[in-house]
Amino acid sequence: MKDSAYDVAIIGAGMVGATLASLLSRSGFRVALVEAVEPRAFDAGAEIGLRVSAISPGSSAILDQAGAWKQISAQRVRPYRRMQVEDGVELDPLLFDAPVFNLESLGTIVENALLQWSVWQVVSSGGLVDIFCPDQLESLQLCGEQNLVSLKSGKLITARLVVGADGAASRVRKTMGVRQDHYAYNQHALVAVVSKQKPNPGVAWQRFLTGGPLAFLPLADGRSSIVWTRPSAEAERLLSLDDDAFIGELDAASSGWLGKVESIGTRAVFPLSMRLSECYASRRTVLMGDAAHVVHPLAGQGVNLGFADAAGLTESLITARLMGGDIGSPAVLHSYDRWRRSESEAMAFGMHAIRSLFGIESLSPLRRIGMAMVKRSWTIRDLFLQRAAGTDVSAPKLARGITLRDLMQA
Ligand SMILES: Cc1cc2nc3c(=O)[nH]c(=O)nc-3n(C[C@H](O)[C@H](O)[C@H](O)COP(=O)(O)OP(=O)(O)OC[C@H]3O[C@@H](n4cnc5c(N)ncnc54)[C@H](O)[C@@H]3O)c2cc1C
Repeated sequence: MKDSAYDVAIIGAGMVGATLASLLSRSGFRVALVEAVEPRAFDAGAEIGLRVSAISPGSSAILDQAGAWKQISAQRVRPYRRMQVEDGVELDPLLFDAPVFNLESLGTIVENALLQWSVWQVVSSGGLVDIFCPDQLESLQLCGEQNLVSLKSGKLITARLVVGADGAASRVRKTMGVRQDHYAYNQHALVAVVSKQKPNPGVAWQRFLTGGPLAFLPLADGRSSIVWTRPSAEAERLLSLDDDAFIGELDAASSGWLGKVESIGTRAVFPLSMRLSECYASRRTVLMGDAAHVVHPLAGQGVNLGFADAAGLTESLITARLMGGDIGSPAVLHSYDRWRRSESEAMAFGMHAIRSLFGIESLSPLRRIGMAMVKRSWTIRDLFLQRAAGTDVSAPKLARGITLRDLMQA
């Protein structure tokens, strides 16, 4: 029988939890990973999935450290070198080009199913992580310097630190009694795979329309994945239209970009909200990914923030170990909490502000002033890009000249 005492027990093996499991196990920690549903094998011959993520260069560096990026980037993915932002009123779009910022690309569009499956394969085949799947967290109990984790199967494990990476409805968060601020946007994101007359040349295009932004993200085969934010009732109406009627409305909303829509695949809608936990760590337990924070997807930052949480916690635990400290001590938890909460709150409120500004009726002077300000101010443009590209992920450590890779090899 396996020894059931671990350094870290991670609840949830979504994209974020599985990445953390790989980073920690490769850094020499004893890790248990609990997942309710085993991920399905990625099928490269199947139709491109509806759920895709814009993965920032910072996140691909983290996935590389987790041992998964090589496999991911060899598959059906599409790097993009340009971001084009329009407000639907001004003629000149706001352009971000990778070479101007000394980057090879601003990010890569990856199917969520490919991401989750690739990281899952790394952790399940590496022999370094003990996996409990299918199984679920039942309860948590603090016993001295250990957390006692009871699983639905009746199994018991102990860990010096428990991580809740179990998504927006996190049971770990509820067990911790952590309160959340929840702001329902009364908006849904409609997603679909679309082909236009001209293939997408590798540009992440976004137009801010009254009611919400419409994004076209480039896919490996020249089609685009659209994320169209609409007021909830309007999104349901768009979902119920037949293909021809929907294409007519999408053509009108994206006019001037790559010609007319030629075909559209299955459509689905997702409700949008902002959720911020009042704290991310207490009593030998931490939260990360959507369990800790949910942000508006208009800049595609949700899972990127989650990967930064995973890298941040790995850095904090390696540093604690190098200093001979306890990885579940209040000091370690406090520094993780402060660092990650300030990053995600800044992102969430930034997205909230942009959404509010561009949500204003399109001819409003306030909205025009806002777009003009963003265009003229290099500081705002740099900040927008730096956040969107995730180039500041490990900023606190990089400032001291140390990277996550250095720490993992220490
Ligand atoms: C329309 C839309 C577009 C988006 N686009 C982007 C984008 O371009 N870029 C980006 O960065 N983000 C994007 N996001 C956000 C991103 O999808 C989420 O932030 C991300 O999926 C969260 O991953 P996670 O691993 O934290 O949580 P989840 O994906 O929710 O994973 C949680 C895991 O925990 C497991 N679990 C739950 N409860 C238990 C339990 N009790 N015991 C055991 N296991 C459990 C679940 O089975 C699941 O596998 C988008 C979101 C939306 C809605």
